[in-house]
Amino acid sequence: MSADAATPAAPVCLVLERPEPDGDGIARRIERHLIAIGRNDLRGRVHPIDWVLSHHDHLALETLAETRVSYRAAFPFDGQELPDAVGAPELEDLLVPPPSTLEERTWRVPVEETRTIEECPGCEGAGRVTCGRCGGDGETTSGFGKDKKTSRCGRCAGSGNVQCSSCEGSGKVLELRIDEVRWEVHQDFDGDEAPPPYHLLHGAGATVEVIESDDLREEHLERLEPDLVEKARALVATADARDGTVRRQRLRVTYAPVLEVRYRLDPATRPDGEPDGPATEGRLWIVGTTEQVYAPGIRRTWMNLFIALVIVFALLNVMLVGFLLAAAVGVAFG
Ligand SMILES: [Zn+2]
Ligand SMILES: [Zn+2]
Repeated sequence: MSADAATPAAPVCLVLERPEPDGDGIARRIERHLIAIGRNDLRGRVHPIDWVLSHHDHLALETLAETRVSYRAAFPFDGQELPDAVGAPELEDLLVPPPSTLEERTWRVPVEETRTIEECPGCEGAGRVTCGRCGGDGETTSGFGKDKKTSRCGRCAGSGNVQCSSCEGSGKVLELRIDEVRWEVHQDFDGDEAPPPYHLLHGAGATVEVIESDDLREEHLERLEPDLVEKARALVATADARDGTVRRQRLRVTYAPVLEVRYRLDPATRPDGEPDGPATEGRLWIVGTTEQVYAPGIRRTWMNLFIALVIVFALLNVMLVGFLLAAAVGVAFG
């Protein structure tokens, strides 16, 4: 943990594109949307009635939590001289730097000071165990009836026992403590679910702020917009309630302005100049700093897409004919 990593992050200020919406501007944005979705038939017929500016936010907190465990492990012992063991460090006192980024990792260290030499539990000190293939008989049988044959066991060479794998034949094992430090990443989320859909906001130039620290504290959260502080606090509390020590946290705040517009859709005009039915009302949303329009009541026409597909198909045909001609010329003169 470096000293500057513990210093609070630079002040966070959510830059909000919050122009005061006006009816003309909204009408112009709707017109552009109608052209984009191929609804020229609706141009000049969609009129904003009233609107309310709010915002959409989504908070995601990643937490790197550290847990520590120790266990004993046994290894074959070949009888070498061992220096006297001195006091072993406590698991909690181990100095291991956490990963500098939010990534999962496991760190294991054998604590030499805790070693002891024990009789091998696998062979009770004998160094050899009963052969698993012949069951100690030293021979195996194959075939049935008069074809039945007995032969010397290939694994133990007829002795009925094999070298113990736990101690590699020495009858003794070296036991010691293994300390394990594990870093895991947990994720917690908070976000509005109301329309427009979240995926739309992501492509709509939402403001994204990131606060990263060893441990998010109150002074970090207070830099957020007031209505986000409470949500961020709840996320941090959820992360703190988990097992393990918090080693690093990253809070990502996605924040987008959302303008909800109630509109009137005028009917089309019949050839005789009369309106073709009554006017209707609907609701649409203009979201993000790039002002994407989400209008579930006004559907796109697929004519533009159809024309594009026809053009692509025609181009492919021209290319194919070109290739065939080139190939024919190649055959004739090659
Ligand atoms: Zn053994
Ligand atoms: Zn055998």
